[in-house]
Amino acid sequence: MVSVRFEFATATRIIFGAGKLKEIGPIAATTGRHALIVQGGNADRSLRLRSMLEEASIGYSTFEIRGEPAIEDIVQGVQRAREGNCDVVIGFGGGSVVDSAKAIAALATNPGDAIDYLETVGSGKPILVGPLASIAIPTTAGTGAEVTRNAVLASRQHRVKASLRSPHLLPRIALVDPELAYGLPPSLTASTGLDALTQLIEPFVSVRANPLTDTFCLEGARRAARSLQKACKEGNDPIAREDMALASLFGGLALANSGLGAVHGFAAPIGGMFSAPHGAVCAALLPYIMEINVRALRQRAPNSDSLDRYAKIAIIVTQSQKATIEDGVGWIRDLCGTLAIPRLRAFAMQEKDVPTLVELASKASSMKANPIALTREELTESLRRAI
Ligand SMILES: [Zn+2]
Repeated sequence: MVSVRFEFATATRIIFGAGKLKEIGPIAATTGRHALIVQGGNADRSLRLRSMLEEASIGYSTFEIRGEPAIEDIVQGVQRAREGNCDVVIGFGGGSVVDSAKAIAALATNPGDAIDYLETVGSGKPILVGPLASIAIPTTAGTGAEVTRNAVLASRQHRVKASLRSPHLLPRIALVDPELAYGLPPSLTASTGLDALTQLIEPFVSVRANPLTDTFCLEGARRAARSLQKACKEGNDPIAREDMALASLFGGLALANSGLGAVHGFAAPIGGMFSAPHGAVCAALLPYIMEINVRALRQRAPNSDSLDRYAKIAIIVTQSQKATIEDGVGWIRDLCGTLAIPRLRAFAMQEKDVPTLVELASKASSMKANPIALTREELTESLRRAI
């Protein structure tokens, strides 16, 4: 029996609760005097945030991220932060916006070419200088980006997505207010929520799982399973939105410290090559990867603890003590059907793309935490089934 060993890192301060945004003025005042607000395409959404900063005598500049961020956007954001003499970066939006804010805060203080700091397309140069303070305020519930130490950025030139990864990317403050997701349309609630569910299952069965992240995964999966459909149908239901905000946060806490698995191993190259919502890609793959992992574990590692873990997940999501692993996989497949998650072919993926994606996925960093090393044949089979 191996003794427990782990390390856990997260945002310095996590503030959670419905309506908490109204406290942002004094909270932000503890971090700086002039903020760079990083926000999505609809600038009106940050009106309340801006007026609360004004009340607290905090100046601000704004920077918009439309869609998923590319390294070129981050370079522009860094310039804006430097020109504005900003001492705090506030990310107010979905996962892309929060990731952008984290990247801008870190690169604003570090010299040289931004692309060098990226994994895969750059040389993964370490971020050595401490970042500007950052505050992450997610307005969707899925990525958990408010507590992760990486930012996923596209390189338009290389047609891939790569991570900027460093402990310096952890926000100073994560402010999670479930009310901010009330207006989110059902399709976005579904895809982001399924990302959260995936990010609770993958770290739980990961080879790097530990007892601390296990508790987040089980509690988060319980809440996501009971509330995701309701959050899609009744977007203003406070309990459902609170559950999904917690599920997202807990998924972020878990993945940042215990890694992910083959679903995210595929999601990275798929996101680089196709225009598809990350959560929908994860959801389309999740049941098939679960099946192939379970089959491979039964064949090659029948005593693996991960099999018991899949069984526990099945009991939690189905809310039935008698549920088998297969029942759990079936429950997730049914949920994807109910929430109208399309197959990957809906994003123009074809059979001919499979070999390239398998090749890229097998090298992805998330793949290393998968509960068992999958063969090329197994990866190919699961991807084909998801198309
Ligand atoms: Zn994800």
